[in-house]
Amino acid sequence: MAEIISGRDIAATIIESDLIARVETLKAKGILPKLVVILVGEHPASASYVRQKEKFAERAGIISEVRRFEASVSEDAILNQIETINNDETIHGVIVQLPLPDHISVEKVLKKIRPEKDVDGFTATNVGNLFLGEPGHQSCTPKGIIRLIDESKTEIKGANAVVLGRSNIVGKPVGLLLLNRGATVTTCHRGTKDVDFFLKQADIVVVAVGKIGLVKGEQLKPGCTVIDVGINRTEEGKLVGDVDFESAEKVARKITPVPGGVGPMTVVSLIENTIEAAEAVS
Ligand code: NAD
Repeated sequence: MAEIISGRDIAATIIESDLIARVETLKAKGILPKLVVILVGEHPASASYVRQKEKFAERAGIISEVRRFEASVSEDAILNQIETINNDETIHGVIVQLPLPDHISVEKVLKKIRPEKDVDGFTATNVGNLFLGEPGHQSCTPKGIIRLIDESKTEIKGANAVVLGRSNIVGKPVGLLLLNRGATVTTCHRGTKDVDFFLKQADIVVVAVGKIGLVKGEQLKPGCTVIDVGINRTEEGKLVGDVDFESAEKVARKITPVPGGVGPMTVVSLIENTIEAAEAVS
């Protein structure tokens, strides 16, 4: 049976052994790290992520403020709000909770955020830095995934890594981070002809697709490390990932659970990015 990589435990350790002390150091200099979350409309999943972000922020000792807007808010109002935040020295990080209503352009909104305050790591500048392996805010889920792999003592350098999914927020950046760390990376997606061929050679498998039971144990290479990014709800309302956990844990050596795997690592990375942004101006 595979060893469970607990993102929940690792995230708690990061907060207690590192983040709280860094916040204390900043506070001693008169700086209180502050994150603003822009939330547009009512989206049950977004509301639950935002609550988790507030909880983690509180545990680390930083301020997090949610600015809520009606779904009918204009694009200009959101752009003006970001401008105000960009110019507010007491705010170190801002994120815009996605998805946004159709009449608001995600591209325009992201372009407006100052890269120094872009703690989600979604702006072109931060994506470019990630591409080049330069310092900058790394996208939270990919950053959390790499930390999970490291904490599980899985060697990245020289490993065959397969990433399922090529989204801008997970698949593509996690592939780049693995590549920058010396893995041989294959990204599979909807158009990949023979996903099984690649999975059979993978020492590290990252699944970020959003489909229940997409990857099963028999598709995996024995002894691999599996990172399940998917968050799906079954008809009974149970939270599950993209990997069929029951069959996969019999083949993999290490595996993340859902919930309690990648999710908490995403949130802790967001808090850490906010602290880093505050440290940069201290
Ligand atoms: P997305 O919908 O933007 O992208 C899905 C990707 O999967 C696409 O690139 C598509 O080509 C690929 N795909 C579709 N079918 C496939 C198949 N059969 N085989 C291989 N690839 C296939 O998704 P996203 O935003 O990257 O999110 C993916 C999942 O991860 C979702 O369940 C989402 O809720 C979850 N997620 C979790 C966290 C977290 O913190 N735990 C963060 C972000 C996303």
